[in-house]
Amino acid sequence: MDQILGLKCVLCGAEYEPDEVLYVCPRHGDEGILDVVYDYDLIGTRLTKEELADNHDYSIWRYAPLLPVEEDSPRPPLQIGWTPLYHVERLGEKLGLPHLYLKDDGRNPTASFKDRASAVGVVKALELGYKTITCASTGNAASSLAGLAASVGLNSVIFVPERAPQAKVAQLLIFGARVIMIRGTYDQAFDLCLEATREYPWYSRNTAYNPYLSEGKKTAALELCEQLDWQAPDRIFVSVGDGCIIGGLWKGLKDLLALGFIDRLPRLVGVQAEGSAPLVRAWEEGSEEIVPLVPDTLADSISVGQPRDRVKALRAVRETGGQYVAVSDEEILEAMRLLGREAAVFAEPAGAAGFAGLAKLVARGEIDPEERIVVLVTGNGLKDVDSAIRATGQPELTEPSMAALRRLI
Ligand SMILES: *Cc1c(COP(=O)(O)O)cnc(C)c1O
Repeated sequence: MDQILGLKCVLCGAEYEPDEVLYVCPRHGDEGILDVVYDYDLIGTRLTKEELADNHDYSIWRYAPLLPVEEDSPRPPLQIGWTPLYHVERLGEKLGLPHLYLKDDGRNPTASFKDRASAVGVVKALELGYKTITCASTGNAASSLAGLAASVGLNSVIFVPERAPQAKVAQLLIFGARVIMIRGTYDQAFDLCLEATREYPWYSRNTAYNPYLSEGKKTAALELCEQLDWQAPDRIFVSVGDGCIIGGLWKGLKDLLALGFIDRLPRLVGVQAEGSAPLVRAWEEGSEEIVPLVPDTLADSISVGQPRDRVKALRAVRETGGQYVAVSDEEILEAMRLLGREAAVFAEPAGAAGFAGLAKLVARGEIDPEERIVVLVTGNGLKDVDSAIRATGQPELTEPSMAALRRLI
């Protein structure tokens, strides 16, 4: 891993060798998230736009020189990343935005954005010789980790809150995970999982704790810029829970800027659900501190009262001149309907929240129609069909006769 110069604490700036620490800055305990620092001069000799144009590996591994993995490490056989970027003209017309793009990350193998991080997580676990990998999750990180672990023959132990949607729990069980369901919130499941990794020989794939996960998440930013022919968009909208995705996108964009692949940073817009919006509040108050709350939203994947990656999540928005915005559950349901009807993309509630945020800023007159905008759809709607039916209402029921059908039509 000569492409890595070190791991740097986001709080105090202390730097460590990758083999010196496993997860967080020893001076700051669980709060001291480490950021991977790269040698861009070296990477620039290994990764060029021309080389990428000839690279037929359409997965996150096409960017391997920019990832924290050994060159010869075994990689999961599933196809991770290189999800489609759609230019959605009909949906764009609804909002008066001719240059609107959706990146559908529900198209990953376990149907969410989390596969990008889990893929890197399982490679690290194998490199370090672990047999078991663990995480706590509201659902998608869990089902993703269970799937990726199964793909490489690792055991997985997964902590989920009791309220996790059934489809996500079904994924865990099918992928053979040991599922530990917590009578409590995601935040409590997270804390218990961290404690468990201190006692058992399990590798932790916890968000904002394991320094390598956001490196997997950044690949979405690398891809979308490449898919736009290295013309960075003006703004990127994404839903935010712990803040690991938005922090990862920021990292990917900074990587590309450092390599000279793009010439400016897009503005990052983080979208939270109103009932779970501690980052919106911190951003409005200009603070880096969070007031933890008990989350309440139907968007379970962003139902997070204490965002673990708050520091990166707030800096990502501040340093790109972006913003945070909160949307109601009603606005999320409306976004699900619009995405389905105008773009045929089926999103789970958290997957549609980014688009709901865009619709809100358009309604407030804060978006210039000429802007090129990318909205990330982070999870597939089949993961939470109850919410989908809540968005749409029930189908019509009739007797199987033409007479009855005529009455209905
Ligand atoms: C995890 C997740 C998010 C939020 O990502 P964070 O890194 O927690 O901010 C958004 N949407 C979906 C579908 C997710 O699974």
